[in-house]
Amino acid sequence: MRFLDTTLRDGEQTPGVSLNPDQKLEIATRLAAIGVDVIEAGSAAASDGERNAIRLIADAGLSSEICTYVRAMHGDIDYAADFGADSVHLVIPVSDLHIAKKMRKTRDQVAAMAYDAVEYAKGRGLIVELSGEDASRADKQFLHEVFCEGVQRGADRLCFCDTVGLLTPEKVAEFIPPLTRIAPLSIHCHDDLGFALANTMAALKAGASCAHVTVNGLGERAGNTPFEEVVMALEILYGYKTRIKKELIYPLSSLVSRHTGVPLAVNKAIVGEMAFTHESGIHAHGVIREPSTYESVEPGMVGRKRRIVLGKHSGTASVEAALHEMNYKAEDKQVKEIVKRVKQLGDDGKRVTDADLMAVADAVLAIECKPVIKMRQFTATSGSHMIPTASVTLVVNGVEMTGAATGDGPVDAAMQVLRKCVGEVADIRLEEYHVDAIQGGTDALVEVTVRLSKDGKIITSRGARTDIIMASVEAMIAGMNRLLRDRT
Ligand code: MN
Repeated sequence: MRFLDTTLRDGEQTPGVSLNPDQKLEIATRLAAIGVDVIEAGSAAASDGERNAIRLIADAGLSSEICTYVRAMHGDIDYAADFGADSVHLVIPVSDLHIAKKMRKTRDQVAAMAYDAVEYAKGRGLIVELSGEDASRADKQFLHEVFCEGVQRGADRLCFCDTVGLLTPEKVAEFIPPLTRIAPLSIHCHDDLGFALANTMAALKAGASCAHVTVNGLGERAGNTPFEEVVMALEILYGYKTRIKKELIYPLSSLVSRHTGVPLAVNKAIVGEMAFTHESGIHAHGVIREPSTYESVEPGMVGRKRRIVLGKHSGTASVEAALHEMNYKAEDKQVKEIVKRVKQLGDDGKRVTDADLMAVADAVLAIECKPVIKMRQFTATSGSHMIPTASVTLVVNGVEMTGAATGDGPVDAAMQVLRKCVGEVADIRLEEYHVDAIQGGTDALVEVTVRLSKDGKIITSRGARTDIIMASVEAMIAGMNRLLRDRT
């Protein structure tokens, strides 16, 4: 069973997504490292930038086969061959709807174009995957004929495209088996009705030998079949051993989300922020005692960590576990008081961060905690003809320091200058930055959550203001103070 990853082609067709050649190369390198068999690197006919990216990826010496999308046109195929691709994903419309309305041609004309393109691509030394677009709405007889003749003309592999997500596992069981007897068959599904994963799994069961997937399920409209979900469904639910290096799944998913600017739904399977996060008191208790009680996938398997967050559902067990992790020693009575105050924060509608818990614990345990960093002055500026700049005066361990930095925007400049000043004392990294606007308007309260790390220790912290820059600064300073205090 093989994987063709099309994050760099179908995934990039997600509305609003555009990757530059360097970003594409970085993603392709990771896809090869994780063990994807074929990388569809782009459509060679699209643009100069796209062709440069294909050349860059083809020349990188990756272990995966490098494929590009082409239409049944000599020009497209020439681009693919000239820019170094190993194979082409040769797509021809096969439903009468697409043939008549989109192509304004007849079945015979489209079939003839397909055969000619297959022969031309083979003549140019390319591996050919002949793909039927909108196959789920095609006449079965016609599709079968096109695939048989295509293979006779030289196509190496075939692909069944459920272009608009209309398949069901029942239809898959009916359509797919006869086609798999012609040549190795790929399945390409879209998630318009949330069936992409189910249909892909059904097709693999029905004899398809390759799944077309994208990282995070990116793709046109509602997206394609998510790579991470197929891998984990095969491994966990069907006991099938893939050759994918699963522990690299999460780092790859984060990279793709960052480069594409498409955030992950917090409750997305496998890679969503909440996929391995527990809050409820009862569940957290169970998971701490025996992870399999409430986890079907061990987080480490996909390169993640379990997270217990606190809130109004938090029970004593999860608060105790969190306190223990932060090196607090509290007596039962004190733990009870801490739990009470944490629930209060939850009832007030707050997400309880590590910094909040530490503040509560310090108060209950009466620990004197002088802030290491104090802010004297802060300014950030931005405008239409200037580089966003921030300056700050901090008192760190009693020493006053002033600094300035520029950034991509005022928030970035603010983060840069804080890191620069504090960087002289400690190596603190910003791992994650997240903004929630509480309600709609431009006057909304903005809640900024940051995740900071120092020497492997990670902490979350929050700032809430109507001013996004000040909320960010507040979150950073609170988090840095928690990381820098000497007692932990
Ligand atoms: Mn597609």
